[in-house]
Amino acid sequence: MDSIAFDRLRQEVDQFVAGPAVRWAEAIEAEGRVDSAMWQGLRDRGFLRLAAPRAWGGMELSMEQYLPLLERFSSMHGSLRMIVHVLNGVWRPTASHANAEQIERFVKPLVRGEHIVTFTLTEPNAGTGSDIQAAARREGDEYVLNGEKWLITFADVADYFLLFGRLEGTRGHDGTLALLVHRDAPGLTIELMPPSMGLAGTGHGHLYLRECRVPTALRLGEEGEGLDVAFHGFLDPSRLGIGMTCVGLAQRALDLAIERAKTRVTFGKPLAARQTIRTWLAEMATDVEAARQLCLWAGRRWDQRQLVPEDASMAKLFGSEMLQRVTDKALQIFGGMGYFQGYEIERIYRDARAQRFEEGTAEIQKTVIALAMLAKKGGTARAQENQVAEPGVMPLY
Ligand SMILES: Cc1cc2nc3c(=O)[nH]c(=O)nc-3n(C[C@H](O)[C@H](O)[C@H](O)COP(=O)(O)OP(=O)(O)OC[C@H]3O[C@@H](n4cnc5c(N)ncnc54)[C@H](O)[C@@H]3O)c2cc1C
Repeated sequence: MDSIAFDRLRQEVDQFVAGPAVRWAEAIEAEGRVDSAMWQGLRDRGFLRLAAPRAWGGMELSMEQYLPLLERFSSMHGSLRMIVHVLNGVWRPTASHANAEQIERFVKPLVRGEHIVTFTLTEPNAGTGSDIQAAARREGDEYVLNGEKWLITFADVADYFLLFGRLEGTRGHDGTLALLVHRDAPGLTIELMPPSMGLAGTGHGHLYLRECRVPTALRLGEEGEGLDVAFHGFLDPSRLGIGMTCVGLAQRALDLAIERAKTRVTFGKPLAARQTIRTWLAEMATDVEAARQLCLWAGRRWDQRQLVPEDASMAKLFGSEMLQRVTDKALQIFGGMGYFQGYEIERIYRDARAQRFEEGTAEIQKTVIALAMLAKKGGTARAQENQVAEPGVMPLY
């Protein structure tokens, strides 16, 4: 997008974030639900097709353009941030291995906002990766699936689950499948999970697959490519995006903390006059800027097709841990009142905690990074890891 059009778009985002998004956040917290009109409002403004290719109806922003907008969106309510982040990314895995017919049937309508697809990997009885257990057998032109998925965002509204499973009897990356499972597929039961600590209004689901029948035509890529779709189609750019969503929320917490430090007076002076508070603010600002620059660096690497998984993991790791440090200090600056509902910082603190889980925990990001570093020094890290792990059973890397 040229710079004039991009500046206009950035202004529209700023106006939205400072206007309707504030009122929507209050409504979500009060009612505990994200109204379908909010989804439509985001769609109508074009905010859910920022990154997708023009040929499919998107705006085709580069990552370097998209990330600063995502930062602004991420100062909003966590559930609105989640919609913007997921919908601007989930077309990637759906498209990454799709054939021409699947592009027409699933990807273009997804970009146009005609249906919702959600990423469906995590299971109650397995690590989030190559030990997934949801398993299918093939019967003619159908797969018959058994297993469970949980913690699945938008399970209440999704039309299709981009669900990762495996062929019965396979292990590790072998035999993995990426399937588009319709919410009305026979044998699929969707149970909504209890409300979460933060992200009020976002529905998460527990999926039960009992002899669930899915046409083989709804498989993306080949048998055995399921986890390629999951990891490289989605998780690398998406982890980078999560890093930037952490920057946006942390910046909002910092702004609120600065405002509070200037106005709250104790023992005759504003908090901002105290050296301790100034030190915290300096640490917070440095933390936020370091994370921002790391994400922008990784974004440029993505645009130049040089991004490797450890770059995305570093952005996600640093961003999500930075967000915890910054929101914790911001709450401390607010004092006890900040712990009570009605203060934005209380909601931010709850919303922020989710980001340490989304798209892989810090521990998994560290594993990705460490294995890549070790591999650079001899190329045997993964082989060594495999020797100590049960053969063929690897976590999310
Ligand atoms: C708000 C929210 C939304 C989510 N949305 C989705 C979604 O839409 N789709 C989806 O598929 N998933 C989703 N998830 C799931 C999320 O990806 C997982 O919670 C995350 O990957 C961690 O997996 P787990 O919960 O199974 O934890 P576990 O795997 O049980 O891990 C528990 C702890 O052990 C650590 N651990 C586990 N394995 C290792 C290891 N090998 N080495 C070192 N430490 C390890 C973890 O880091 C963690 O601290 C969501 C989660 C949340 C909180």
